[in-house]
Amino acid sequence: MKVIVVGSSHGGYETVRGILAAQPDTEIQWYEQGDFLSFLSCGMQLYLEGTVKDVNSVRYATPEGMTKAGVHVFVQQAITKVDPAKHAVHVVDQQSGAERDETYDKLVLSVGAVPFELPVPGHDLKNVYAMRGRDWAIKLKAKTVDPDVKNVVVIGSGYIGIEAAEVFAKAGKHVTIIDMLPRLLSLYLDEEFTTVLTDELAAHDITAAAGQGVKSFDGRDGKVVSVTTDQGTYPADLVVSAAGIKANTDMLKGVVDLDDHGLIEINQYLQTSQPDIYAVGDATLVPFAPTGQDNRIALATNARRQGRFAAKNLLGEVAPMPAVSGSSALSVFDYHFASTGVKAGTSDKLGVKSTSVLVTDTVRPKFVPHDAGNAKVWFKLTFDPADGRILGAQIMSTVDVTANINTISLAIQAKLTVADLAYTDFFFQPGFDRPWNIMNVAAQKAVKTLS
Ligand code: FAD
Repeated sequence: MKVIVVGSSHGGYETVRGILAAQPDTEIQWYEQGDFLSFLSCGMQLYLEGTVKDVNSVRYATPEGMTKAGVHVFVQQAITKVDPAKHAVHVVDQQSGAERDETYDKLVLSVGAVPFELPVPGHDLKNVYAMRGRDWAIKLKAKTVDPDVKNVVVIGSGYIGIEAAEVFAKAGKHVTIIDMLPRLLSLYLDEEFTTVLTDELAAHDITAAAGQGVKSFDGRDGKVVSVTTDQGTYPADLVVSAAGIKANTDMLKGVVDLDDHGLIEINQYLQTSQPDIYAVGDATLVPFAPTGQDNRIALATNARRQGRFAAKNLLGEVAPMPAVSGSSALSVFDYHFASTGVKAGTSDKLGVKSTSVLVTDTVRPKFVPHDAGNAKVWFKLTFDPADGRILGAQIMSTVDVTANINTISLAIQAKLTVADLAYTDFFFQPGFDRPWNIMNVAAQKAVKTLS
């Protein structure tokens, strides 16, 4: 069997690995249009802050290693057309311009997404950057040490925008984060959490300009100098635009079914409307466990999971992709937070009825001093008020307790209720936790709200 995999980031990489692990004699052609195989944007902040020194190490696979494993690797070769009837793709070499067709038995598209470009005047000015992929990583790194860059405006306060803001604040720049939503990080956390984090950002010279729509990027001599919103003007020597993504699917129009946002429609086996064409990653929707609906959740974890299941299915297994909870974690200076599933703030948009309980306490028993790792912790549990089914949770502390959220993710996937979680056996040792883990405490409180 000959399989063509398009795209070398998380989804493509995991598909190739999955095929190799199950049936190593499969003929695999792996295409990447860029000049670098398998750059992982997830590692970008670590590189920009200098924790990881070499931009070229931010990857899982090298062409040499994958070739040795038997994969035919094609870098700087773009797939520009797909012909499902002929089971063929059109390949254009990005260096020489040479063109050719290749046939496949199965095709996997992990074409991902590109940063969404705000359609405002000045979007094409110099120093308006994005944060995705190796090329932007290199350009952004140069700006962290550019003395002419004093004011940085970040557009968008999702995790990418927050990462960008932290990078430039740590580099000594004054940062403003603009978001059209009324709170920073509002798709990840409820207000009890974002208020604390917005204060933490302010303590590091980061101004939050939430609830503001960008009207224009203003320039002088072709370079950006400020950003104007419906409420003010902010000086900017550099703009980092992190206001969402757009599926990289223009070449797929009329080839496979796309939704109104250009996302590739797939079934639970990762098949598109063309059964021998599979799709994974940020260009697709994923099944969301709390609601049972498909959702757009652009995370590497989802792309990897989909890649693994695409590999299984195209090799003949019948393996439906399990639903995900959309779990993610991030540090904001001294704070670490994680969240999963539904939040009070996203409940309406997702069309679910929910109730939440908030518990604040200390991570370890109160007698354990701060310098022994004790600190305040916030935990919010969201559940269905009718039957107590767990729908989501958020946690935050200056101690890293984020892994608790993985337990909630499992609870969501297993359709557990707050009654199940109330007395689940979690370990106790004062150096780690309290006699009742905060998830027990919150679930016990939640049980009392059920009639
Ligand atoms: P993409 O990463 O978008 O890659 C698609 C690849 O396909 C690209 O290399 C592109 O050049 C190539 N390609 C596209 N079209 C063609 C074509 N026609 N021919 C050949 N090649 C093509 N997720 C997490 O879970 N945790 C994190 O901590 C995290 N941090 C992130 C930090 C940043 C700054 C960013 C930007 C994203 C982060 N993500 C994180 C999200 C994660 O990176 C994405 O969900 C993941 O990369 C999606 O993988 P993908 O395979 O769908 O596509």
